[in-house]
Amino acid sequence: MSGLREIRCPADGTLVATLTDGSREDTVAAIGIARRAFDEGPWPRTPAIERGALLHRVADLIARDKAKLARAESLDTGKRLVEAEYDMDDVAACFRYYAGIAATGAGRTIETGRTDAISRIVHEPIGVCGLITPWNYPLLQTSWKVAPALAAGNTFVLKPSELTPSTAILLIRLLTEAGLPDGVANLVLGLGPEAGAPLAEHRDVDLVSFTGSLATGRVLMAAAAATVKRVALELGGKNPNVIFADADFDTAVDFALTAVFLHSGQVCSAGARLVVEESIHDRFVDAVVERASRIRLGGPFDTKAETGPLISAAHLAKVEAYVAAGVAEGAVLRCGGRRPDDPDLADGFYYLPTVLDGCRAGMSVLRDESFGPVLTVETFSSEDEAVRIANDTDYGLAGAVWTQDAGKAQRVAQRLRHGTVWINDYHPYVPQAEWGGFKQSGIGRELGPSGLDEYRETKHIWQNIDPRPQHWFRP
Ligand code: NAD
Repeated sequence: MSGLREIRCPADGTLVATLTDGSREDTVAAIGIARRAFDEGPWPRTPAIERGALLHRVADLIARDKAKLARAESLDTGKRLVEAEYDMDDVAACFRYYAGIAATGAGRTIETGRTDAISRIVHEPIGVCGLITPWNYPLLQTSWKVAPALAAGNTFVLKPSELTPSTAILLIRLLTEAGLPDGVANLVLGLGPEAGAPLAEHRDVDLVSFTGSLATGRVLMAAAAATVKRVALELGGKNPNVIFADADFDTAVDFALTAVFLHSGQVCSAGARLVVEESIHDRFVDAVVERASRIRLGGPFDTKAETGPLISAAHLAKVEAYVAAGVAEGAVLRCGGRRPDDPDLADGFYYLPTVLDGCRAGMSVLRDESFGPVLTVETFSSEDEAVRIANDTDYGLAGAVWTQDAGKAQRVAQRLRHGTVWINDYHPYVPQAEWGGFKQSGIGRELGPSGLDEYRETKHIWQNIDPRPQHWFRP
């Protein structure tokens, strides 16, 4: 074990918990337990239908404890309670989805063209999974990994963000209550380079699945190379929200705000780049700025608040530096760009919704993820230019296109190099559909049927059912 650390609510500094950070040795010990549970325990050999039944029980327990889980998540993250409650519904839905498909895709038989052999494709669990999650949607991101990993019959070691561990602790208790055998689910708390790093390095971990920043993703991918383990990465985004002049104006303005300011921009798929057709630029940006300036900030239990604080002092400083760099490069600050004056918010890490107009290719604010309530504005004057600007990023997680021209909507959606594209919408997702990034936004997919396949080996089994001497060489 390493040192003691306090968890304080980012909204007002209230002490939430004091906990002991795990060390590398703690994580290596947890990996050993998960290894034994995989190699010798019952879970990988439990019929898939029974694994699915257990996941259904977990979903029921999450629904039962929704209020407690949502409150814990709000206190850790500072997000509004109502948003945390939505998240808990999504967590339960994720467990139910993988409960439902745990026993699907059992494999297939192959026509061998011979009478003396049979050949099958089967799926098997991969082994010990190292699961590393971020702080913005703590339990939801965790459930996207834990549910398919268990559905496929793996064991795991989970390392949640050091900033938001509470709901991970509660989840492990619910897994035990649901009847998961000992040693299958293991939790380590603590800092990434200490408690997290062995999950990418250790030879007894077969897969590392990580959601977090591009910088950490690169470190983990390099570390995993030494043991050639499976790597799944869900990284950042620099997501374009493309508005054509023929879009439904009021709806597009409304969603442009939700796209970027939901959870104060701390959303991987946040529509942080407004890419708007030149002919409506002034009217559109004026409307966004007018409403952004009126967004009400507040803590988890302030029912009038529309969004909350940033996660930490360090993150607030990062967002401040990001905006300062944009202004220095020539962006026009239209609103926000500072902390709020309200003395009631002085103890939290609040930052006003911010709009940076006049952004041009090459600026750092268009390249880097702020992960805060900051909207950059670029303009285009043709469909080709809109697509070029929207794809001009190393990331490729998500994006949207707004137009009432059905053909244009499909054309642009097809050309956007982003893993999720919304047409005349922003943010919805369902567990039935794959989630994941193009380019440097990630490797592999979460959710959907392929999300389960990320946690399964696919094996071809060939059996000679009439073995005889072959006489390749003269007997
Ligand atoms: P982060 O990379 O700082 O940390 C994520 C996790 O990795 C934490 O648990 C952290 O402790 C751990 N970690 C850090 N260094 C490590 C190391 N050397 N070895 C092992 N583990 C280590 O990211 P964050 O700030 O927690 O999350 C925000 C980022 O997550 C944003 O970039 C956001 O876009 C991304 N994100 C992506 C998705 C997606 O679906 N693609 C979803 C949510 C968040």
